[in-house]
Amino acid sequence: MRVAIFGTGYVGLVTGTCLAEVGHDVVCVDVDQTKVEGLEQGIVPIYEPGLESMVKANHAAGRLAFTTDATPAIDHGQVVFIAVGTPPDEDGSADLQYVLAVARTIGRHLTHPTVVVNKSTVPVGTADQVRAAIAQELAARGVEIAFDVVSNPEFLKEGDAVADCMRPDRIVIGASNPEAVALLRRLYAPFNRNRDRVVEMDVRSAELTKYAANAMLATKISFMNEIANIAERVGADIEQVRQGIGSDPRIGWHFIYPGVGYGGSCFPKDVQALARIAAGHGLQPQLLNAVEAVNAAQKGHLYTLIQRHYDCGEDEGVRGKTFAMWGLAFKPNTDDMREAPSRRVLEQLWEGGAKVRVYDPEAMNEARRIFGEREDLVFCQSATEALEGADALVVVTEWKQFRSPDFARMRKALGDAVVFDGRNLYDPAEVEAAGLAYYGIGRGRSLHE
Ligand code: NAD
Repeated sequence: MRVAIFGTGYVGLVTGTCLAEVGHDVVCVDVDQTKVEGLEQGIVPIYEPGLESMVKANHAAGRLAFTTDATPAIDHGQVVFIAVGTPPDEDGSADLQYVLAVARTIGRHLTHPTVVVNKSTVPVGTADQVRAAIAQELAARGVEIAFDVVSNPEFLKEGDAVADCMRPDRIVIGASNPEAVALLRRLYAPFNRNRDRVVEMDVRSAELTKYAANAMLATKISFMNEIANIAERVGADIEQVRQGIGSDPRIGWHFIYPGVGYGGSCFPKDVQALARIAAGHGLQPQLLNAVEAVNAAQKGHLYTLIQRHYDCGEDEGVRGKTFAMWGLAFKPNTDDMREAPSRRVLEQLWEGGAKVRVYDPEAMNEARRIFGEREDLVFCQSATEALEGADALVVVTEWKQFRSPDFARMRKALGDAVVFDGRNLYDPAEVEAAGLAYYGIGRGRSLHE
């Protein structure tokens, strides 16, 4: 099938590439000329395992093209996807300006009956706004062309996006017209061979499903972080508690890891946006507000442990200290630093007067772009190099390569011989046996008085 996709970010690029991989003819449109020119030359602007080779292969095979020109792309598409960003507005609600700009562009250039598929995460009722924007442009042109607007939210996980897209656990299609559903079923048939993954529903339910999924996952994380903080105070070990509760199948093992809080482009903005939707309909979203508040506090928790260790008061910092920081991305296998907990920890360390030596396997360029050159930030080539001349280690992202360090060597490298483990990667006893002080999240021993 012939497909056009607006927005060539994490979602649009991965979706377009995977659709091309199964034989569809895909044209990706983006307003970012540098990005488009790079992609045409095989330069993939994000790190996502497996993506670059697929982009190159499908581009070379002529099934995947990139352009800034909307007109031929809309003309090309039997199906036109909207996969542009929906960042938070000032009040936390989703900013729809990019989605509606694409809708107007589609209305201005539509030449044949088309199914418009919204993949961006959007508030309930957005499909109606998209439909109205397209209709308005068609009316201004004085033409009548049939079109449908379908909601098809995306559930891919950054860091695993290609696998998620090639083997989705569900394909949610929110539509009112059976013909549009049939078209999307044909489009997704190659991903749907061994069992039917399509979940059909009405448009509004599909729009809400995406927010509900992310809010549920964020809730699990904030819940565990709150229990971890209780564990810390009462002298319990959250890792033992996690084993104890995860074995209950009603609770399960997934997403019950305590840490430095959730980040990324989705959870923070989607929880806030859902809370705004609720408030807009006269509901007090108490749980959603609490999930966000717990997360905001948790992002500062590692620094509280650091202050506690160095015996600094509320306003006193860690002036003159140097910290090694392992991990910058909001999670492993991505270079995405949007809302990453590392950013808060860095800011707090800098405010406290410390210098930071950072290493991340993939997010170094992104960090350079965000922070630029500054005296209190040193970019290192490896995890080991980050330790050189540092007083303490802070672990913020759970990359596999950080899991089994040589603690004896670490002990020699770190001036103050202390590890702040924001992801509970290490066994406290093993770290301490090497002569290092250890702080984890919710591991009782650090804060118990
Ligand atoms: P992104 O910021 O990585 O990419 C958005 C792209 O859209 C950018 O390249 C931008 O230049 C482009 N764009 C903006 N206006 C445009 C226009 N008028 N025409 C063409 N291109 C335009 O965003 P993303 O992370 O891919 O997210 C896109 C949407 O998908 C959001 O609503 C997000 O919430 C949702 N989502 C994201 C993820 C994720 O893991 N990143 C997962 C599921 C859903």
